[in-house]
Amino acid sequence: MFKKGNKLYSILTGTCPKCHEESMFKNKNPYILSEILDMYETCSNCSTKYKIEPSFFYGSMYVSYAVGIAFATAAFVISFFVFNAGINIVFTSIVATLVVFLPIIIRISRNIWINFFMHYDKSLAKK
Ligand SMILES: [Zn+2]
Repeated sequence: MFKKGNKLYSILTGTCPKCHEESMFKNKNPYILSEILDMYETCSNCSTKYKIEPSFFYGSMYVSYAVGIAFATAAFVISFFVFNAGINIVFTSIVATLVVFLPIIIRISRNIWINFFMHYDKSLAKK
C-alpha cells in the first residue's frame, strides 16, 4: 500500500504528485518553521508546475481543518480512554497536540490538497 504509485506515498512523503520522485519542499524537515512553506516552483524530474493557479495552496486550509480534527480526536481518544484523564488534562492534551503537530498538519494538508488535482503518471517516473 505504501509505495510509489499510491497517493498515500505522495501525501506522507511530500513528493511530486505526478512522478513521486522529487520532494516538493525545499527543506524536508517541517520543524524548520521559517522554511515550512518554501516549495519548488516545478518538479526537477518531470517539470510539473505545483502552483497550478495563483494562491493555489490557500485551499489547503480547508484540508488542514479536517486533518486538525483527526489529530485532536486522536489526542482525545488516547488521553480520555487510554489514560482515563480528567477534562482539564484532556483539553490540555488536545491543545498541546495541535500546537506540537502544527508543522506536520500544514505539510500534510498541502500534500492532500495537491493530490486532489494531480494524479500519478507512470510514464513520468524514473525508469
Ligand atoms: Zn515530478
